[in-house]
Amino acid sequence: MRAAVFILASLLAAPAHAQFGSILNKAQKAKDTADKVADLNITEEEERKLGENVSTSLRDKFGVYQDAEVAKYVTLVGNVLAQGSSRANLNWTFIVLDTDAVNAFAAPGGIIHVTRGLLGLAKNEAELAGVLGHEITHVTAKHTVRFIQKSKGISVGSDLAGGGSTRDYIISKMSEKAFHVLLDGTFSREDENEADKAGVELANKLGYAANGLAEVLKKLDARNSGREDRNGLFASHPDTKDRIAKIEKEVKDEKLTGSATVSSRYAKYITFDAKPIEEIAVSTEGAAGLAGDGKEAKKDEPKKKGGLFGKVGLSSGSQAQNTQTTASAGSRGVGIPDRDATGGSNKSTLGVKITPADLVAFKKGIVG
Ligand SMILES: [Zn+2]
Repeated sequence: MRAAVFILASLLAAPAHAQFGSILNKAQKAKDTADKVADLNITEEEERKLGENVSTSLRDKFGVYQDAEVAKYVTLVGNVLAQGSSRANLNWTFIVLDTDAVNAFAAPGGIIHVTRGLLGLAKNEAELAGVLGHEITHVTAKHTVRFIQKSKGISVGSDLAGGGSTRDYIISKMSEKAFHVLLDGTFSREDENEADKAGVELANKLGYAANGLAEVLKKLDARNSGREDRNGLFASHPDTKDRIAKIEKEVKDEKLTGSATVSSRYAKYITFDAKPIEEIAVSTEGAAGLAGDGKEAKKDEPKKKGGLFGKVGLSSGSQAQNTQTTASAGSRGVGIPDRDATGGSNKSTLGVKITPADLVAFKKGIVG
């Protein structure tokens, strides 16, 4: 009896130990990878590669607004600011996404995206400069790259190849993660406050009205009033009212006296308004392929949502139905207008070229 038990125990022991060892091994590998990603010294070239991957995903989702004049205008405002930033030498690129969503995304390495909807919501150049200053700061402070490295959310699994391709693989995994961080707006509160503060300073330094960003935030706040989801731009950002108060305090305390709104130049190029939030068509299909988190929307859902989500923005009406729709759509809420709006089909950038002389001339136009 005793012998039998012993034999049975040793029979069990060997495979159990082996199995446990393999789990430990996997866990160690995962930890090693997480540590590796956290400790990785991302080169400027890799940062740009990451940003280009993110930009490709954003353009796939929303398309590029095919208006060369608008693209050049946004590029000039952006470059005037970027040249005054702490990373003036990056290959700064500004892209207008072809969607009614009101949003902006700073891809690492200096590729800034603003949506057609955002351009329509802003009403002067100082407001656009405030938003671009905020986004430029996310790049100069390397917020996205640092956030991803800290979050240890990269699972490279056991198929992690050795040698030089390991880095490529990690960069591509980081790119996927970065796309979702930007789309979901999951920056930290500290990063957002820093981007607000430095962005406002940057716009003011160039002569723009220092309250530009606060003015856009007020419009966003009014636009989102009555909504319970965390909609789109600055979704994760600290409470909008709190941010507005912080910016207004900064303007006062730091005596920021920039006053140029440059309204007429803005109106010359941006001749459209933002669509009311309840009129924004929503589709989650564009993001499905990149999601990779199994939360892909069912193929038959978008059509149904189009009708239902038209009502979400209204404070009156079928509140219960709205709540149910939002809840059943997943924890993050599928079909948030400023994140999941449909976009144009043309994904090609316009290859805007500007010269130093263009910049000098443009800068002269920043007057009250
Ligand atoms: Zn931000």
